[in-house]
Amino acid sequence: MNKPSIYGLTNDALTEWFLANGQKKFRATQVWDWLYVKRIHAFSEMSNIAKDCIALLEENFVLQPLEQKIVQESADGTIKYLFELYDGNLIETVLMRHEYGLSVCVTTQVGCNIGCTFCASGLLKKQRDLSAGEIVSQIMQVQHYLDEKDEGDRVSHIVVMGIGEPFDNYDHVMSFLKIVNHAKGLAIGARHITVSTSGLAPKIKEFAENGLQVNLAISLHAPNNEIRTSIMRINRSFPIEKLMEAVDYYLEKTNRRITFEYIMLRGVNDQKEQALELAALLANKRHLAYVNLIPYNSVSEHDQYSRSKKADVQAFHDTLKKKGINSVIRKEQGSDIDAACGQLRSKQMKKD
Ligand code: SAH
Ligand code: SF4
Repeated sequence: MNKPSIYGLTNDALTEWFLANGQKKFRATQVWDWLYVKRIHAFSEMSNIAKDCIALLEENFVLQPLEQKIVQESADGTIKYLFELYDGNLIETVLMRHEYGLSVCVTTQVGCNIGCTFCASGLLKKQRDLSAGEIVSQIMQVQHYLDEKDEGDRVSHIVVMGIGEPFDNYDHVMSFLKIVNHAKGLAIGARHITVSTSGLAPKIKEFAENGLQVNLAISLHAPNNEIRTSIMRINRSFPIEKLMEAVDYYLEKTNRRITFEYIMLRGVNDQKEQALELAALLANKRHLAYVNLIPYNSVSEHDQYSRSKKADVQAFHDTLKKKGINSVIRKEQGSDIDAACGQLRSKQMKKD
């Protein structure tokens, strides 16, 4: 039987576990310090913890459940990792360098069932959800890798935008967020964390209630149901009206800004007409909506799509601006090492 990773326990859960196993409460604080501040590679390195307690931990948990298979470093500093899970499944994680810090993109599921027609991740049906430990471990693997370089680099930002739909693995993703955000753990600020969803409306409402100050991004990609359904199957279950109702609920509850992601697909959603439609859709939430115009990363299996012309992207951006909608044209990173969603993984699978 595979043991769970200790990285998957929230501070409260570990405290409870120690109490239930006849240990003192303060053990959780000590162990978390070893895990997230000193960042050990084996339980046996915890020198102030009694031997019998270390044996108990080793009996019940693993530390690092991911095996690093491939690391690729790009000229712009982007690093892409391919990890193997205990059951042989492969996942990927990406580190990006920005002016404001180091950001890691994590995977939440093996494959994805949402089936967006432009996405490499969706090519593989969901095999299973990742555990909270497997998601936290991606951050820890990257941080250990940086620690070994000894340049004092710290992961400062997280984007939940790798393979999978985070709101289809809601509970594990929420535990993950609590663990990385906790002041005694990695203490990554909630405002430095962004979760991206394809639009599971009921979960957006639940997320609004959870009290975490984490940023939300919505993969909108189209201004109307006709186009959105043609590229995102999920739009049949949660059409734009339902999605926007959940978004309004979120805005009302949190008063936090929402990012709308919009992949620019040539001739599909990138014309002035669609820019105007998008501006109208977001008009009533203008001050809290932020549109991210994303260059399409070509996926060889989806050859029906191509990247929008530069002039069209600029015109789209200008139209939104004229209508008072904030938007930015996203710069690309790591394209020389397949940093796009799901691409390293799918290449590796083809080789196997
Ligand atoms: N499932 C979630 C999070 C993972 S996808 C979601 O869909 O939001 C993260 C982002 O990458 C999404 O906005 C997604 O639409 C985008 N994406 C997927 N395939 C892409 C591609 N080929 N080129 C550019 N962006 C892509
Ligand atoms: Fe899944 Fe997101 Fe890819 Fe859609 S874009 S298939 S939801 S990972």
